[in-house]
Amino acid sequence: MTVLELVAAYQSKITTPTIELARVFSVIKAKDEVIHAFLDTYEAEAVAAADRATEQYAKAGATDTLPPLLGVPVALKNNILYAGKRATAASKILENYIASYDATVVTKLKAAGAIIVGATNMDEFAMGGSTENSAFGPTRNPVDTTRVPRGSSGGSAAAVAMGAVAVAIGTDTGGSVRQPASYCGVVGFKPTYGAVSRYGLIAMGSSLDQAGPLTTTVADAALVHHLMAGLDAYDATTITKDTYPAVEPKEKYTIGIPRSFLTSGVDAGVLQVFEAHVAALVTAGHTVVDIDLPLFEQGLAAYYIVMPAEVSSNTARYDGMRYGYSAPGANLREVYENSRGEGFGAEVKRRILLGTYVLSSGYYDAYYSKAETVRALMRAELAEVFTTVDIILTPTAPTPAFILGAQGDPLSMYRQDIFTVPVNLTGVPALSIPAGTVSEGGVALPVGVQYIGPHGGDNRLFDLGIQMFDNRRAV
Ligand code: GLN
Repeated sequence: MTVLELVAAYQSKITTPTIELARVFSVIKAKDEVIHAFLDTYEAEAVAAADRATEQYAKAGATDTLPPLLGVPVALKNNILYAGKRATAASKILENYIASYDATVVTKLKAAGAIIVGATNMDEFAMGGSTENSAFGPTRNPVDTTRVPRGSSGGSAAAVAMGAVAVAIGTDTGGSVRQPASYCGVVGFKPTYGAVSRYGLIAMGSSLDQAGPLTTTVADAALVHHLMAGLDAYDATTITKDTYPAVEPKEKYTIGIPRSFLTSGVDAGVLQVFEAHVAALVTAGHTVVDIDLPLFEQGLAAYYIVMPAEVSSNTARYDGMRYGYSAPGANLREVYENSRGEGFGAEVKRRILLGTYVLSSGYYDAYYSKAETVRALMRAELAEVFTTVDIILTPTAPTPAFILGAQGDPLSMYRQDIFTVPVNLTGVPALSIPAGTVSEGGVALPVGVQYIGPHGGDNRLFDLGIQMFDNRRAV
């Protein structure tokens, strides 16, 4: 059941949170040994919370309003702080770190009545695109367990795709909600930057990070997003709907396709699914036009400078003294070196090195400030394009799910991010919806398409997504 169906079923007494939570944990027990979507589960307290919710539904009169997600099970990526629980970011350096407070998104989900059932696996500190970089072993794709779910929110996508929960929360710094959504055949949403508070999220790239929902329908993503969004005194970058012009939904949309951007390295099967989606948009009465976004092609290069720069400063706090893992040494410097050397995995170290390099004096102007200039130009280019189109359409990822271990070279993994990173660099919202499948080795592998909206255009994306996905979904 979707989130909306589940809440309706609770209200009409077709089922109860107690029954649903028993179902959730039986699915996890049956499937998660192989899939490994979860790092931790909170069964006893989740079941107790479900019993309380069941009672609230039983007592409620027909006119009582109950919290909108009362009794809805939710899984959280393990870089989101949930007080009293481990927040590992799938890193050895935080293996035993216990969150001392709730992230704002958790506070809001709890206030809406949601029940947190467990913490999901991810690439270490959200760095990666396959969930193979977890210090606790990879997650497998429920569609084909020889393949990756993508990442870095692979555990959250898999938890939804394997039928354990109707909604899981991920974080997206360069595509980490949208990409696993695409590979696992679910919906993933990355909000306008600042729409959702980053307070209590373990930071990766602070100017890029946003938390977003992974769900089975766009309507569910919209519901959960709006419950998590809003101005937060603990995050100065948060915005309210009043501080940016809300982009209202329209009857018919003009959709721009950056054709020249789609030529290199995109799998033929993915392109076929993409073209079929373009045709479906036209049939539905929308207008499709070609657009030029020459600077978008520089997005990958700019991202892999800006992001590691932010990573290098955000990870400086893990020094063996303040947080988590600490390895002994003869002096302070050795404690730093041993703790960071043993605590961080290879991909995190690679990014810290790159980031420190691009920020160092002498290279700052050559790399970091150039990348920030490109970023500003990309924003201007995008704002210009959005004066003529309502939504931009791309594939979410250039290939369908790959086999575990197949992308050994970090650069080929980075290239997989080509369609998603420009969105984070420019701070606009984007939605990935399942658009079809590609058959490989006798398995139908899901392929997603990405709708990109203007700043504050989150609702426009939900509107088109509901038309083009929810309303056509086989029930
Ligand atoms: N794959 C991208 C990266 O490795 C995106 C990660 C993310 O969004 N957290 O940086």
